[in-house]
Amino acid sequence: MKELLEKMIAAAPTAENGEAQCANAIMDYFEASGIEAHLDIWNDNRANIVAKLPSAGDRQGLLFASHLDVVPPGEAKWASDPFRPIEKDGKIFGRGAADMKGGIAALASAMTEIAAEKTKLQGQVVFAATAGEETDSCGAKRFVAQNKDTLKPFAGIVIPEPTDFQVVTAHRGMLWLQIETTGKTAHGSMPHLGINAITSMNHLLNKLGVYKIPYKKHPTLGGCSMSINEIHGGKATNVIPDHCLIRIDIRTLPTQQNENIVQSFQQILDELKGTVKDFDAKLSVTRSVEALETDNESDFVKTFCDSVKIDETAAVGFATDAPFFAPLNAPTVIFGPGKPSACHKPDEYIDIEDLQKAKQYYKDLIVSFLT
Ligand SMILES: [Zn+2]
Repeated sequence: MKELLEKMIAAAPTAENGEAQCANAIMDYFEASGIEAHLDIWNDNRANIVAKLPSAGDRQGLLFASHLDVVPPGEAKWASDPFRPIEKDGKIFGRGAADMKGGIAALASAMTEIAAEKTKLQGQVVFAATAGEETDSCGAKRFVAQNKDTLKPFAGIVIPEPTDFQVVTAHRGMLWLQIETTGKTAHGSMPHLGINAITSMNHLLNKLGVYKIPYKKHPTLGGCSMSINEIHGGKATNVIPDHCLIRIDIRTLPTQQNENIVQSFQQILDELKGTVKDFDAKLSVTRSVEALETDNESDFVKTFCDSVKIDETAAVGFATDAPFFAPLNAPTVIFGPGKPSACHKPDEYIDIEDLQKAKQYYKDLIVSFLT
């Protein structure tokens, strides 16, 4: 399990490098234990991997859906090379150790143990590890598109993301917008001959400064948030800028639909076009992930909680690929080893003890649902 984890970290599956090498490491691991697996590789280096434990019965199975990619190491300095995993003080350090190679290694290891013990399962276990969760969820979308008509219905979906063993049944969604105002360039000494895109953006910022996306507060997820986190515009002090761009990060609630929010922003732009001279702007969606809310009273969640012996469910602020599996129509729980606070940061790590614990949890889950 540790060896697989270290190989996956060393594969450095950032968006730039792609996931193929990481997927191959998992493929080798499953093949060595006689578990059926197949790779789906596209654009040279992007990859999904799917593995299955077969069913001897007709019970609904379980899907475990993970992501292979990691965020880049970032600008802050690491104590050691982020892609050369090291073991120290009972922890393994490396980019992706917590998010979410630890969960993948624990799950793959649980599956090989079940296969080795020849446990007869009454429903199938599908392991899917997909590309691009940190950027555009391309792998999860591709997996669902390719398999939704052929996969048998699942009793539930487990996302082994690092929740530090909290049973997470709700998270906010994510909607990233980019708005670009356009104008006409001219010499800085003759602004009347140009259309200043920064002035146009200022009109928009004034509007957005007082705009509140309508929502009803969620009992566990709280509110919907919106923050303008990037602005770019202008080239030189003596050039009238013809482009200005902002990027907005919106976190949504299960009662909201990202599509409706996009429309409300388009409406703001249309109004400005009607009222402000020479205003022109283009809106684009750079990322859209719906919120997740699984019924805590569903049989799946209840059996899940019984199996891991954790009564309480939790809600978190970060988004996952879970909503992209909605077309499979199965309740979803996020549950895995690793501290969320260690993710996307320098010196990311996972406790080796948590890996062992996770393996046992996943084994117990599979056995309690499917035997
Ligand atoms: Zn993750």
